[in-house]
Order: sequence, then C-alpha cells, then structure tokens
Amino acid sequence: MLIKIIKVGSLQTNCYIVVDEKSTEAIIIDPGDEAAKILPNLAGLSIRYIVITHGHPDHFGALDEIKKQTRVPVLIHPDDNWFIEGDNNLKDGDEIKFGSLTLKVIHTPGHSQGSLCLYLPGHLFSGDTLFSTTHGRVDLPGSSPRAMRQSLKTLAALPDDTIVYPGHDETTTIGQEKERGTLE
Ligand SMILES: [Zn+2]
Repeated sequence: MLIKIIKVGSLQTNCYIVVDEKSTEAIIIDPGDEAAKILPNLAGLSIRYIVITHGHPDHFGALDEIKKQTRVPVLIHPDDNWFIEGDNNLKDGDEIKFGSLTLKVIHTPGHSQGSLCLYLPGHLFSGDTLFSTTHGRVDLPGSSPRAMRQSLKTLAALPDDTIVYPGHDETTTIGQEKERGTLE
C-alpha cells in the first residue's frame, strides 16, 4: 500500500490518495481544494472511489473537478447530507474495497454528525475527529461534545501502533494520543 499526502487549500487539508500498488487501484480521501495540485497524483492509477470524511467545505472543495475527471462514486455518511450529498451513503461497519485493500468505516460523530474514520489494520484516516495532540472542534453546527467523547473512546480501542492520518496537520499514532490524554 502507498499513501500519498497532498496538502491543499488555505486550511492545508490533507488529501490522501490510498493506492493498492499491485493493482494500481486507488481511492481519494477528502479532495479539499486545489484540483490542479491533486490531479497529477492520479496519473497511472485507476481511481475507484472518492470518500469524504465529513461535510465541511475544506474537505470537498475540489470535488466537482476531481469527479469530472475520475467519474467515480462519491461516498459520504448521510448524517452530513445537509452539507453535501454523495452518490452512495456509508454507515458504520461498511467496507470499502479496492484492489486487495479493505477499509472499514467507523462512524465517529462529534465534530459533525456524519463524521467518519476509515480503518485498515495499522492505519486510520481520522478526518477532523482526531488530530495530533487534540480532537476536532465540537462548537460548530452539528457538533456534539458528548458524541465526540464516545467516538474517541471507540478510537482508543484500536491498537496503539495504529498510524493516524488526520484531516489537517501531521500524522500521529493511537498510542501517542492515548499517552497525551487526547482520547479521554
Ligand atoms: Zn471539519
């Protein structure tokens, strides 16, 4: 597996391209802005899906243009459909399969009602639910501090060595964030 990280837009959102190198099948997570910066990274790949971790504009700003180029389904949790609608809805426990890879959907409301994380052993794409040293904001329309606490508890149950790829800033691990108290 290969993970490309492209920082886009004024909020430096992390757009991730997750590639199954053998089959060259791949997905795009959060095409937040700057399609022109994202598109060259798709060369030679067969993109299967675009996944939006939650419905805030800095996570899908380049969606229209990327969708026009790739013509693949956009996946999102329906609880964020009041921000944006996808082609297919995701729910907790769903699996996203491409090449030999399977990502499991974990619904993690709190930052927004439809926030989700994507997990495959050793790796967690956490959107704006979990960052290095902190969790996502819970003072926005649709936020819930109580739901966030529950979601962080769910993430704390993942193995300590799981690498966390957040929606902004740098990667961390579940173990490191447990030590820092971020997941309490
Ligand atoms: Zn957000």
